[in-house]
Amino acid sequence: MRSILITGGNGGLGLGIGRYFLEKQDDAQVWLGVRSNRGAATALADEFDGRCRLVDLEVTSREAWEAAVSTMTEAHGRLDVLVNNAGMHRDALLATMDDDAWHSVVSSNLDSVFFGCRAVIPTMMRQRFGRIVNIASLSAILPPLGQTNYAAAKAGVVALTQTLAKEVARAGITVNAVLPGYIETEALAPMDEEAAKQAKRGIPMRRFGQPAEVAAAVAFLACQDAGYVTGSALKIDGGIF
Ligand code: NDP
Repeated sequence: MRSILITGGNGGLGLGIGRYFLEKQDDAQVWLGVRSNRGAATALADEFDGRCRLVDLEVTSREAWEAAVSTMTEAHGRLDVLVNNAGMHRDALLATMDDDAWHSVVSSNLDSVFFGCRAVIPTMMRQRFGRIVNIASLSAILPPLGQTNYAAAKAGVVALTQTLAKEVARAGITVNAVLPGYIETEALAPMDEEAAKQAKRGIPMRRFGQPAEVAAAVAFLACQDAGYVTGSALKIDGGIF
């Protein structure tokens, strides 16, 4: 079995990535990291009874990471894939952005990736194998107005990915980032119909992406055969950039 940990496992993308592994890879043992909200993740775990489990994981907490990783390694003796997916945005123009909007966004999107990578690296080093996929965002390289906090955090995720990839390459661990554009999940819920229409006009494919379309890229980067792909940042944006 390949043990796979996906953070933000109750969100649209986390669920989509989890489902993709479960449906396409019979040897996938998926752990969905969840915090307060867990209804949808519980439903997925019930559907794939035994191959999908939930683990408490507030990604901004070092202690929570340590507990989650030991739960998984006690259950399987290994941890093959980490998908750092949890994240959120709280948009505001910088001039009016309050401290909490800055810190909470940087902490949930960037500190989380630092804690997560640091927590799994010793196990992956011992295995001489590991796959880390960090979910950044197109905002890291093409930031819209109002996302100084989010864009800075996601650009930090890309830089962390590229640096860590060099540090752990000799241990058989790859570290890559994906940069989704607009993907149809709760994260787009604040967008009204007119804003969605306008956004689609700026996308060469004229539509938003689906979680499964990001999941396919994550699954590729996480597979055994992608062992020579590391430090990369893959855009999945319908051609925007
Ligand atoms: P959702 O809002 O649907 O899901 C986000 C998930 O992250 C939720 O399950 C949420 O948990 C979890 N989460 C947020 N902060 C924390 C935290 N501190 N600790 C634990 N869990 C946390 O959004 P998406 O699924 O769309 O987003 C997933 C990732 O993809 C994010 O990193 C996002 O930035 C990125 N992304 C999304 C894009 C899109 O268009 N959808 C585009 C580009 C990037 P809870 O439910 O408990 O709040």
